[in-house]
Amino acid sequence: MPTLLLLPGDGIGPEVTGEVRRVAEKIFPDLTLEERPFGGISYDTLGTPLSDETLALALASDAVLMGAVGGPQWASAPRHLRPEAGLLGLRLGMGVFANLRPALCFAALADASSLKREVIEGLDIMIVRELTGGVYFGKPRGIETLPDGQKRGVDTQVYTTSEIERVSRVAFTLAEGRRNKVTSCEKSNVMETGLLWREVVTALHAREFPHVTLEHMLADNAAMQLVKNPRQFDVILTDNLFGDILSDEAAQLTGSLGMLPSAAIGVAGAPGLYEPIHGSAPDIAGQGVANPLAAILSFAMALRWSLARPDLADRLTHAVEAALASGARTRDIGGDLGSRAMADAVLAKL
Ligand code: NAD
Repeated sequence: MPTLLLLPGDGIGPEVTGEVRRVAEKIFPDLTLEERPFGGISYDTLGTPLSDETLALALASDAVLMGAVGGPQWASAPRHLRPEAGLLGLRLGMGVFANLRPALCFAALADASSLKREVIEGLDIMIVRELTGGVYFGKPRGIETLPDGQKRGVDTQVYTTSEIERVSRVAFTLAEGRRNKVTSCEKSNVMETGLLWREVVTALHAREFPHVTLEHMLADNAAMQLVKNPRQFDVILTDNLFGDILSDEAAQLTGSLGMLPSAAIGVAGAPGLYEPIHGSAPDIAGQGVANPLAAILSFAMALRWSLARPDLADRLTHAVEAALASGARTRDIGGDLGSRAMADAVLAKL
């Protein structure tokens, strides 16, 4: 029996994962659901944002679905014990090196974007971001005090051939099942890691994926093109830092943070980590008004990529589309439904 580990986390995390639980129980009764504290709540109760038991359970599951972590009450916790440190530790511990972030414009929500309807209608981009390397992990890093009393901060951007190859392979493979195009983004004009990135992607493409269209684009130009003509993109492949920025930009194209799922996957057969891209939204936490669709669509991604049930993933995605088409909306997308009523609208369409 497949197992899904739920990590509700903080703020609106428990509210949105609670709705995922109801959807999962309806659509996939054979799925075993486990639950563990994670993030700030885990720090409060267990003294660490990610306990060894939680990581072990994550590794023994078929998929992990996280709600959100963080909040102002943990801002003064030691850096290595902050909720966000638990999330980085979970990603590293699970070895999920490829972050998949779809930017999809649902027809019913085309007017929620800050861009014109004709620019974003039908938008369907998949951003593949390298997740466990690059400048967020490179050494040396730190802040030192110089002899003259100034301070000096250092981060190190570093990539190896194999790190670039494995995430590129994910991007090319995804493109094969979509519109067959990969746009690889770096700054090869000014960065050594950018040069290596371009070289490795080009060689892998020639060796293993010559039938997929490959295009290289400087990351700053990609940022511009995303708001100018986003529909030119199919799969965007990029590193950890540029991926962080470009995927947030792409998220905004489609309207609400409350709509967007993500997946983080590693080697074939290992459990994937699924999470809505939004944070813990302390401003609305506890009110029952959070949009649960990003979390529900993250579960759909888990069904597709880790639980070997693409049929259920399609059913669930269509149910979300049908619920939106029938006018069901939470506050963030212009309606007045609460989290539970929004999930009810999806359940009704299943
Ligand atoms: P946020 O995503 O939590 O909220 C930004 C805005 O979007 C808020 O106004 C919020 O109410 C709204 N929003 C977010 N999700 C929503 C939903 N499902 N339905 C309706 N409205 C929604 O980002 P933030 O305010 O910058 O961060 C709050 C906390 O979350 C911080 O502690 C931050 O570190 C953390 N965070 C965690 C993650 C994660 O767990 N992966 C991601 C981003 C931020």
